[in-house]
Amino acid sequence: MSDCLFCKIIKGDIPSLKVYEDDLVYAFLDIAPVNPGHTLIVPKEHFDDVEQMSEEQAAAAFARVHRLAPKIRAAVGALAWNLGLNTGKAAGQVVMHAHWHVMPRFVEDGLTHWPKKHFTDAEMKSFAADIVAALSQ
Ligand code: 5GP
Ligand code: ZN
Repeated sequence: MSDCLFCKIIKGDIPSLKVYEDDLVYAFLDIAPVNPGHTLIVPKEHFDDVEQMSEEQAAAAFARVHRLAPKIRAAVGALAWNLGLNTGKAAGQVVMHAHWHVMPRFVEDGLTHWPKKHFTDAEMKSFAADIVAALSQ
């Protein structure tokens, strides 16, 4: 898409610190990393978000994430990694071109996980029932 930031990066119209490229994906360092080696893995084809990708397209892109992430982790001497996939603006997606964040992690690196919420047993059962119904369609 001509007005998409990541499409411009993939085309080379905007510079990036590319770490990997093949026929399917383009991977480059996030300009505002949470840790050393924070990498964005982006399908070359434009999709606004992962929900726009078919199961096959998403599986193929994730296979690249699965292959690259351990090597990214090792390259920066990290012990572990988180995978981020923000889907939709309410989830924090800012760039509307599907992408996976690979975020290398170190002991006591200052990053924290999401805060947890408490719901009643009745609410939890209702959430589960709604999801079961949606997944069975
Ligand atoms: P989102 O919140 O959409 O999942 O993440 C978008 C990511 O893209 C952010 O972490 C942000 O730092 C990164 N980003 C935004 N603009 C640029 C850019 O011009 N170059 C690079 N390398 N990363 C960018
Ligand atoms: Zn795009």
